Amino acid sequence: MIPAEFEYVAAETLDEAIRHLVENGDEAKLLAGGHSLLPLMKLRLAAPALLVDLRKVPGLHGIQRENGSWRIGAMTVHSDLEHTSELGIVSHAAGTIADPQVRNRGTIGGSLAHGDPASDLPAVLLITDGTVTVQGPQSQRTVAAADLFQDYMQTAVEPHEVLTEVRMPALDGWGYGYEKFNRRSEDWAMVAVSAVVKQTGDICEDVRIGLTNMGSVPLRAHAVEEALRGQPLNKDSIAKAAEAAAEGTDPPADLNASAEYKQHLARVLSRRALEQAAGLAS
Ligand SMILES: Cc1cc2nc3c(=O)[nH]c(=O)nc-3n(C[C@H](O)[C@H](O)[C@H](O)COP(=O)(O)OP(=O)(O)OC[C@H]3O[C@@H](n4cnc5c(N)ncnc54)[C@H](O)[C@@H]3O)c2cc1C
Repeated sequence: MIPAEFEYVAAETLDEAIRHLVENGDEAKLLAGGHSLLPLMKLRLAAPALLVDLRKVPGLHGIQRENGSWRIGAMTVHSDLEHTSELGIVSHAAGTIADPQVRNRGTIGGSLAHGDPASDLPAVLLITDGTVTVQGPQSQRTVAAADLFQDYMQTAVEPHEVLTEVRMPALDGWGYGYEKFNRRSEDWAMVAVSAVVKQTGDICEDVRIGLTNMGSVPLRAHAVEEALRGQPLNKDSIAKAAEAAAEGTDPPADLNASAEYKQHLARVLSRRALEQAAGLAS
């Protein structure tokens, strides 16, 4: 379908972008890669009167390592994340997003601000204990991943704010695993599980597990984490703990899977992602 008519402006500065948002209220939408917004506009599920393109705004692109953490500009595209292997699980997860066309256009900021629970990067931000910086007309604030995703496609980023950068601890020395289940290799996740593990010998010092598409927001599998923290990590302990992966989840059924099947997937994928993270995958 063809979107409703709209005006377009490519802001030259962050201040200009925010000014357009403030002046136009609900009528204006930021445009990053356009790979979530434009499909919605074509389906007429969104009809902003003004698109404010961020592509010319300086300072929103790039990946830098600073004092043990990563700083990633909001307009950094998925393919740049994919090709920065030092980003570990972030790079791996970005490489599973759709196809090269989508990865060359879609941005980390757009994905996180959009807050689709089927997207790959939100749960990864959650388990890295990352934060985002958002800039409004008066002030800047930092939002922790745990507070960012509020409900289905609703995030803590206000309509007059721009998500400018993402910060994630580098997690040096942690192992990671990422398991995404879909019908065709380039589809959205039916369910995905991300896991990071810090171990000394075979003892699990710390572990974090993220669940994608298991609810209206990305989730942590806290019961599995608690069962493993401080315990020996082996195939048996992982298999036993992973049985709790769907605890407390209530995933919506969709065209691809019933709620029960998604819960089954969460258990199986958690076991596999943890085995990868612990270096036990065969
Ligand atoms: C065919 C197809 C398959 C896909 N498959 C996957 C997949 O498997 N996994 C996956 O994770 N994603 C998938 N995507 C989505 C893709 O990753 C999108 O690019 C991403 O979700 C949104 O990023 P964007 O830069 O395109 O944002 P846009 O579409 O430009 O914007 C999305 C929303 O975020 C807002 N926004 C954008 N940038 C900012 C900002 N800096 N600050 C505040 N608000 C902002 C916009 O106003 C809009 O409301 C797919 C997309 C397509 C078209």
